[in-house]
Amino acid sequence: MAVPKKKISTSRRNQRRSHDRLGLAAYEDCSHCGELKRPHHVCPSCGHYNDREVMEAADVA
Ligand SMILES: [Zn+2]
Repeated sequence: MAVPKKKISTSRRNQRRSHDRLGLAAYEDCSHCGELKRPHHVCPSCGHYNDREVMEAADVA
């Protein structure tokens, strides 16, 4: 098995990981109410999916 010759310092390890952060989550406009929603998810504000109501609208807040 290939073994590293030297221990990677904390600084070098952290420099490598500086690009590891998660990107922004994807959002799109709901085709029914226009609210922002996650793609391939039921719209949380109107309960629609593919222009069809599949869930009770969660407007009880
Ligand atoms: Zn909606």
